[in-house]
Amino acid sequence: MGGRLFVISGPSGAGKGSIVEKLLRQGERIYFSVSATTRQKRPYETDGKEYYFVSRQDFLDRIERKRMLEWAEYEGQMYGTPADPVDEKLRAGFDVLLDIETKGMRQVKTLRPDAVTMFVYPPSFAELERRLRSRKTETEEKILGRLAKGRRECELAEEYDYIIINDDLDKAAAEAAAIMTAEKCRTAERIHILKEDETL
Ligand code: 5GP
Repeated sequence: MGGRLFVISGPSGAGKGSIVEKLLRQGERIYFSVSATTRQKRPYETDGKEYYFVSRQDFLDRIERKRMLEWAEYEGQMYGTPADPVDEKLRAGFDVLLDIETKGMRQVKTLRPDAVTMFVYPPSFAELERRLRSRKTETEEKILGRLAKGRRECELAEEYDYIIINDDLDKAAAEAAAIMTAEKCRTAERIHILKEDETL
């Protein structure tokens, strides 16, 4: 039995990263897909953990060789999901979690309509701005750009299967875990296990 594919999106600063970390720490069989990006590494990031930091040429080569499940340009940088690890992990029965933006989510939904999509909404835009500023890693222009983009992205939340409002990290992570559990208990997911197991 294969795993399920989950997508999590939301404006930068909404707290997706913290929710994902909590989900992974719970020790379920979840594989977090490490994206490739052409953007600069932030000081607290490690190559191969949050992202594979690659050159634009390397990124374009991967697209050319059809190695990306999806990709998008965001704030002038390229971001994409390497396809092979996703397929391998799904086949091995892991649930796979993609932290990607909305254009990528649409591509995934087209290719894999059974993917489950979650949107992390900030409690308010004032709070979103405060969180973006507290990172202190980006210029004023970049912060304002991300804030404007975040507002536009929030308008697309209704395209997602689920919305998680992150006003409290523990609650938001518990909601994401509950969504994932419920999706795995769907009749369509379970019925063939019951049919295959003669003891049931
Ligand atoms: P950041 O630069 O803040 O890490 O990420 C910027 C945006 O790119 C976030 O919305 C994040 O979800 C998105 N992103 C990260 N990896 C991917 C990817 O592989 N594909 C797509 N489409 N978006 C991504």
